[in-house]
Amino acid sequence: MTARAKTKAKKKPTSLMKIRHRIQGLAVLGTFLIGLRHVMPGEASTGGSFDAFCPFGGIETLLPYLFRGETLKTTNLLNFAILIGVLGVSLLTGRSFCGWLCPLGGLQDRLARLAQRLTGDKRHIRGKKSPARFPMRLPKRVDQWARTIKYLLLGIIVWVSVTAVYPPLHFLCPVRAVFSFQMTGLLWSVLITFIVTSMLVERFWCKYLCPLGAALAIFNKIAPIRLRLNEHTCVDCGRCDTECPMDIEDAHANSRDLECIQCLECLETCALKDTITLEVY
Ligand code: SF4
Ligand code: SF4
Ligand code: SF4
Repeated sequence: MTARAKTKAKKKPTSLMKIRHRIQGLAVLGTFLIGLRHVMPGEASTGGSFDAFCPFGGIETLLPYLFRGETLKTTNLLNFAILIGVLGVSLLTGRSFCGWLCPLGGLQDRLARLAQRLTGDKRHIRGKKSPARFPMRLPKRVDQWARTIKYLLLGIIVWVSVTAVYPPLHFLCPVRAVFSFQMTGLLWSVLITFIVTSMLVERFWCKYLCPLGAALAIFNKIAPIRLRLNEHTCVDCGRCDTECPMDIEDAHANSRDLECIQCLECLETCALKDTITLEVY
């Protein structure tokens, strides 16, 4: 850090990421309980399928509902209600659902930390490049190309949904693989793939495969609440780039990037007072 940076260093906040991790923990616990509820004996297991609580189910079943007047099997109107809630949050704050509320996102963050600990870095020092072998970054060209897969998947899923009976992602959904307790051979494969890839590459599913993340990405361009960089005080030290879980280049200047999950790790890690701020504009 330069002398200028040191003199202006702010008192390091610690609470913001704790709050985020706790909210993520609650989302994981809540989804776990929803999954458990559906395999409990007796009346506890009635009242809609596990899929009915998924916001992406609302996207999968939207066209069939509009064209045929009926929702796909395992989805119902609750999917629309949850999707509208997620879209409302996204309209105000961009892809913050991914950074704060998605149980799969929270699990990926924890698996990445676990991989870091297992492969050589016992402590996580904010803003410092970890010497751990994993999670790693894919080569830039591969990474850039692979990030388009999720948009392609979103388009295919919406297209296929028009004539589908079940939601197109139903048999391969990682949320079902992790939380539903109704495992098939395919879901076991998805679960193992999810765990391994999340430990190899941070937020692998979010970066490359998740169609819900792809659908929410556009809200980063229009949401009024977002991060702002003060270019006069930023010393381009790169700490925020190191910390960004989505590996966004120049993370401090790119909060409108489609890939940003509004996790606020860059704000948290910047040591300079009022250099990255959360604003409405
Ligand atoms: S991209 Fe998908 S898996 Fe990742 S946090 Fe967002 S909704 Fe969840
Ligand atoms: S915004 Fe990022 S690059 Fe700029 S001073 Fe803060 S941590 Fe360093
Ligand atoms: S740019 Fe900042 S808020 Fe966006 S994903 Fe990276 S660290 Fe999180």
